[in-house]
Amino acid sequence: MQDCIFCKIAAQEIPVQPIYEDHEIIAFRDINAQAPVHVLIIPKKHIANLLEVSQEDSLLIARMHNVVQRLAVELGVSEEGFRLVINTKDNGGQTVHHLHFHLLGGRFMTWPPG
Ligand code: AMP
Repeated sequence: MQDCIFCKIAAQEIPVQPIYEDHEIIAFRDINAQAPVHVLIIPKKHIANLLEVSQEDSLLIARMHNVVQRLAVELGVSEEGFRLVINTKDNGGQTVHHLHFHLLGGRFMTWPPG
């Protein structure tokens, strides 16, 4: 989608160092990291938010979770744990309107979140 920053990252129009990539998913470090490990996992296909995920996206969403599992191990946060966040719309704090998982780890996460 035009003017979507994550579509531009998926299309390599904005360069990032991918830490995982396949034909439908890319993962890269958040530019404004909130934890020692802060990675974004996004579908290359434009999906605005979690509410826009359709039945036909089910496998894609499952594969995104597989990428989370893999990166949690590779980035060394699977033993102590991590937090997976999907900010959705304004009250959820979503600023980029292209579905993304935040994988946060490497420190203790407080609750409730701010
Ligand atoms: P959200 O607020 O949940 O929509 O998260 C969007 C995230 O994208 C924020 O944590 C930003 O720091 C991050 N972000 C925005 N632009 C970039 C970029 N070019 N590279 C990496 N992370 C980005």
